[in-house]
Amino acid sequence: MTCTATPNRVRSLPVLLATEDDAEDMGLLAPDDRLTCHVHGRWIHQCAASPSHVNPVTRHRWCRGCRNELTVAVDELSGEVAMSCPRCGHGGSAATTRLVAACRASLAAERAVRFAA
Ligand SMILES: [Zn+2]
Ligand SMILES: [Zn+2]
Repeated sequence: MTCTATPNRVRSLPVLLATEDDAEDMGLLAPDDRLTCHVHGRWIHQCAASPSHVNPVTRHRWCRGCRNELTVAVDELSGEVAMSCPRCGHGGSAATTRLVAACRASLAAERAVRFAA
């Protein structure tokens, strides 16, 4: 017997965007855990490279040692997402780790929508 049913409901970008806006307003969802971006209206992995997603205070996409923003590499084929400092090659932080995790999840969610369509 084979079971190919996916446990997670597939939600399109506009639906998930609205759902996450509501959940965030109600305090049920941390901004860091969103798979969609309310600023750009896109999947987070599609706009994480935007300067709006750099924050030296929280250290999202920011290398403190070099005072430099991290570059974003998204591999749509493998689903791999990486962020690193172009100067020292590192620059990781807890905030960036969370952003990378959200990007991987949004990439997977976007694929699920594409295959379901
Ligand atoms: Zn964005
Ligand atoms: Zn660096």
